[in-house]
Amino acid sequence: MSMTLGRTVSAGLHPTSRRSDTEALTTPIQTTISVLTEGYDALFFDSFGVLIDGVDALPGAVELVDRMNADHTNYFVVTNDASVSLDSRVNTFASKGFSIPKERIINSGSLIADYILEHELQDAPTLVLGSQDAKDYATDAGARLVSLDSDEEPDVVITGHNRPYDWESTLEELLTLFSRRFQQNNPVRLVLPNPDFIYPNGPGVFGFGAAAFVNALEQALERLHGSHDSLIATKLGKPYAPIFKAAIDQAGTNNAIMIGDQLETDISGANSAGIDSAVVTTGINRRSTPDEFENVPDELTPRYILASLV
Ligand SMILES: [Mg+2]
Repeated sequence: MSMTLGRTVSAGLHPTSRRSDTEALTTPIQTTISVLTEGYDALFFDSFGVLIDGVDALPGAVELVDRMNADHTNYFVVTNDASVSLDSRVNTFASKGFSIPKERIINSGSLIADYILEHELQDAPTLVLGSQDAKDYATDAGARLVSLDSDEEPDVVITGHNRPYDWESTLEELLTLFSRRFQQNNPVRLVLPNPDFIYPNGPGVFGFGAAAFVNALEQALERLHGSHDSLIATKLGKPYAPIFKAAIDQAGTNNAIMIGDQLETDISGANSAGIDSAVVTTGINRRSTPDEFENVPDELTPRYILASLV
C-alpha cells in the first residue's frame, strides 16, 4: 500500500519531469515560402488549414499554386481524405480558384490501390466501408468486393467514411468476424486509409472519422485477445509512413518539405519520415513564434514556422 502511495505522490510531485525529458532540443525558425521553394527539391502541402480553410482559399494560396505551376515546381498536395476521387478533389479545388492537376494530389484513398497491389490482394474478398469513391479506389486496383451480407467472408476490411451509417451494428459484426478469424489463425486484414479521429463539420461542429470506429474495434479485440499486430489496423494516411513514402516516391526526392497546420499529423509524420517540415498558423496550429514551441516535444517540432504563403 505504501508503495502504491509512493508512486502516486512521486508522480504528483514531479508533474514536469516527463516533459523535460521530451522538451524540444530544437527550435523552429521563421521562414518564407520563397526560401522553402528555393531550398527544397519538392514541396508537400497539406490541404485544410494550409491551402483552404474548409470553405475558401487561404490568402496567397491560389497565387502560390499558379506560380508553382508556371515555374514547374515539384509540388504535391498531401491530404488524408479518402472519401472522394482525385477527379472530384480536382473539381473542388477548381471551384475555389486552384488549378491543381490530379497527378499532384496524393490522398489516403489513392493509397488503397498501392496497398492492394503491394500485398497482392487482388483475389482476396474485400469489404470496403465508405463512399462509392472509396470502393472505386479498391476496384481500380483489381480488388474483388464483397459485402457483410455476402456468403463469402472478407479477408480484407478497408474502413473509409460513410455518413449516415449504422456503425454500431457494423462494428458488432466486425468484432465477431475478426475475433473468430483470429482464433482460427486466419486473421482478417484491417486497413484504415484516413487516420483522422475527428473532422470539422461546419463552424464549431465536429464529426467522428472512421478512425474513431476502428479504434473502438481495436480496443475491443485487445480486450478479447490481448495485444497482437494482426488485430491492429494498417494506417495509410498522415502521420503514418505509407503516405509520406508515396509522396517521396512520386516527388523522386527526399529533399522535400512538408508544409502543414497540425503538429500531430503533418509535422510528426514528416519528422518520422525523415523530411523537413514547416508549420503554418492559418489552421489548427496557432503557435507563431519559436518561443511558443519551447515545451513541444521534439517529434512534434517543425524545422520552420511559415507565417504566410505570400
Ligand atoms: Mg490540415
